Amino acid sequence: MFEGYKPVSLEQITARVQKAEADAGRNIGSVSVIAVSKVQPNSRVEAVLQQGHQVFGENRVQEAAGKWPKFREQFQNVELHLIGPLQTNKVRQAFGLFQSIHSVDRPKLANAVARIAQEEGHCPEVFIQINTGEEPQKAGVLPMDADSFINDCRGLDLPVRGLMCIPPADEEPSLHFALLAKIATRNGLDGLSMGMSGDFESAIALGATHIRVGSAIFGARDYS
Ligand SMILES: *Cc1c(COP(=O)(O)O)cnc(C)c1O
Repeated sequence: MFEGYKPVSLEQITARVQKAEADAGRNIGSVSVIAVSKVQPNSRVEAVLQQGHQVFGENRVQEAAGKWPKFREQFQNVELHLIGPLQTNKVRQAFGLFQSIHSVDRPKLANAVARIAQEEGHCPEVFIQINTGEEPQKAGVLPMDADSFINDCRGLDLPVRGLMCIPPADEEPSLHFALLAKIATRNGLDGLSMGMSGDFESAIALGATHIRVGSAIFGARDYS
């Protein structure tokens, strides 16, 4: 059913990212485009790999474990980011798959990551997820708890690269991007994982270093 799919979008997205970088007075190429391949058929993912893209995101450990070891045999230097929730009993498996974890959001998980980093002798870079919209159903540290949690993560020697947020669906995302940037600045962090298909340009304007773009690159996800 996906046979007519032509992977032309990556080029268009790259052009839009470069324009947003230039408009914001930022260096071209300074924003990392994480192509979010969750749920996408392998043929689409392979097409984007064929075009030379190397940075991908998945939101489930299990799904990533099912497809990325094979792709990595075919394609060199793939960088994989975990952008979805992580259970403590999957941390070790996540270490074997991901270079970056964007969803560290609670002490129990931070402790598990720190312990397994000790045992494994390496650690993926870490983004701390902030629930900027204070939505009860959403993962993430509340803004008022962010400073102390960031401190605790540093105390555990986690390689904290920055902060991540997923704005509420029905609110102006730039308010949330600005809040995330403010929390990062006051904590001496410059990594900002924010912006998705619908809003990555405004995220780049507000300092995003990593944007997570799925459907704009691969087409709509088919959950049926
Ligand atoms: C699925 C997902 C994305 C990508 O969403 P698109 O709207 O398809 O770009 C980004 N971030 C997270 C956390 C996701 O789960």
